[in-house]
Amino acid sequence: MVEPNTDFMMPNVNFFGPGVIKKIGDRAKLLGMKKPLIVTEKFLRNMENGPVKQTEASLKASGVDYIFYDNVEPNPKVRNVEEGKKIYLDSGCDSIISVGGGSSHDCAKGIGIVLTNGDDITKLAGIDTLKNPLPPLLAVNTTAGTASEITRHDVITNEETKLKFVVISWRNVPLVSFNDPLLMLDVPKGMTAATGMDALTHCVESYVSTHRNDITDGQAIQGIKLICKYLPQAYADGHNVEARTKMAEASLLAGMAFNNADLGYVHAMAHQLGGQYDAPHGECCASLMPTVEKWNIISAPERFADIARFMGEDVDGLNVWDAAQKAIDALERISKQVGIRTVKELGAKPEDFDLLATNALKDGNAGSNPRKGNKQDIIDLFTEAYN
Ligand code: NAD
Repeated sequence: MVEPNTDFMMPNVNFFGPGVIKKIGDRAKLLGMKKPLIVTEKFLRNMENGPVKQTEASLKASGVDYIFYDNVEPNPKVRNVEEGKKIYLDSGCDSIISVGGGSSHDCAKGIGIVLTNGDDITKLAGIDTLKNPLPPLLAVNTTAGTASEITRHDVITNEETKLKFVVISWRNVPLVSFNDPLLMLDVPKGMTAATGMDALTHCVESYVSTHRNDITDGQAIQGIKLICKYLPQAYADGHNVEARTKMAEASLLAGMAFNNADLGYVHAMAHQLGGQYDAPHGECCASLMPTVEKWNIISAPERFADIARFMGEDVDGLNVWDAAQKAIDALERISKQVGIRTVKELGAKPEDFDLLATNALKDGNAGSNPRKGNKQDIIDLFTEAYN
């Protein structure tokens, strides 16, 4: 049954386009930031004229001082959040700037959360658990994928349980975000593919989610069209500015769609692969998507026929079932074009599928999947994707 979300959430302010990173210093000053903590990774911090250096240049030009936490790991861990909080407090910071992809933004949100909502972030998993606002947070985005720079989600990995958990709250949405495609030109091929396929998963899962509405449909449709056209081009030539710009737009559209329509079993299952094997999130999603969506077809065949059309498939004259199958063929094709690895290649082990399936059904994304399954169904989906 479709039960649309009616609270529609948009980004606070998003600066978009080539060169917008130059505005961050003025924005930080305007917001009264005296000493922000820049949350990022060492690799990005050291990149010559990379996103961090450009952020620093703009902050310096505006006379804004800053401190670094540069130890963010992929699939950020609870320990990253705690380390960042300590540096923030020890250095007398008053605000946060994340620079990077979803891992940096989520770590920064996590630091903000524990600063104002209690020490143990694992206890805050769930929806609307945050009672207090986070310190002012700006997000400089450098991957066209997660859209964490505008979402209310914060995905953190508990390294002890090997589980990813999500803190969902409108308080997590950064005050200002920056999507400058020129910062994305040097994202490596594999990561371009993984992050782009994450954005495609956001669109597809939003379009068939039981929480969808007409607004999220519009965003998901345009996102699917842009990604199918421009992801192969961005993968083929990372310095194609038009392709990078269109992928950044698509990622934003996809983020707005799932921020409101929610997701489904692909994400619920992908979080288990990411938590258990520390595999790249976008590839976890992409490696599962064709199998899960094929299984989902009976819940909404006309929606999958639509997706095939948006992906550029010729479905004229086909019955709805054959047209829906074309969407799965197209998902498999684009995954192959951009070199997505299989669930097996990502390191999954069949003996873990029982546990992964149990935890996937508890994941916050499972509730809006259009077809409802039991543990054995999820084990079968992991097994089919593995084989
Ligand atoms: P990421 O942030 O982990 O970055 C992946 C890699 O790309 C890193 O090695 C990084 O160094 C490199 N990289 C990033 N930007 C670069 C650039 N401009 N140039 C060169 N290299 C660059 O990857 P991601 O896919 O953006 O984020 C994944 C995380 O986000 C996962 O933990 C996932 O669960 C989470 N996520 C969060 C949300 C949300 O709404 N909060 C949504 C989806 C996924």
